[in-house]
Amino acid sequence: MRVLIVEDEKRVAAAVKRGLEAEAFTVDVAFDGTDGLWMATERRYDVIVLDIMLPGMNGYKICESLRTAGDWTPILMLTAKDGEYDQAEALDTGADDYLTKPFSFVVLLARVRALLRRSGRSETVTYQAGDLRIDPVTRRCTRGETDVELTTREFAVLEFLMRRAGEVMSKSEILDNVWDFAFEGDPNIVEVYIRHLRKKLDEPFDRQLIQTIRGAGYRLDPEGG
Ligand code: CA
Repeated sequence: MRVLIVEDEKRVAAAVKRGLEAEAFTVDVAFDGTDGLWMATERRYDVIVLDIMLPGMNGYKICESLRTAGDWTPILMLTAKDGEYDQAEALDTGADDYLTKPFSFVVLLARVRALLRRSGRSETVTYQAGDLRIDPVTRRCTRGETDVELTTREFAVLEFLMRRAGEVMSKSEILDNVWDFAFEGDPNIVEVYIRHLRKKLDEPFDRQLIQTIRGAGYRLDPEGG
């Protein structure tokens, strides 16, 4: 799941980003309204967390522009308690929900998950391929009867491959979906994570689930190899 945070308070943005990443979300951050609208238009997100008071362009304007353009990505608006704007206005401009600052991360996470459920983006609670099963909400991974411990990033790579089971995913597609917008490192990092996943998921078992398609990328075999 990919989340865009548009928030000029760097400390808040960093904390939310860190928290969501620990829950296996992929997170991009924009620190002003102009960048926020650009990123929201440029890329598909599952949820946008949108502050109202922003340099460049305020949250209401961003929300209105997206809705006018027919973009109905769920939006959680962040409102200030004693700000000049009120919460009803957030909903009037087309936001799906609002959260009053200061908020705790657990409340934000619950709202984000509720929006995903409401928009039907997380209706499939578990993914299965052969005897491999993952639950993105509890972040549990099992193969047969065996629990497999994965790091947050490993889990995110596997979740992406499982959501697209049977399809060949290139390294750059995996990178775009699992790493954040600002990542400019070596795409070969994907190979490192595939190697970790194989070691944990495939090597101890008879059938191999993760296939390498030479020159094209990786494919998770839905039949379990
Ligand atoms: Ca602000």
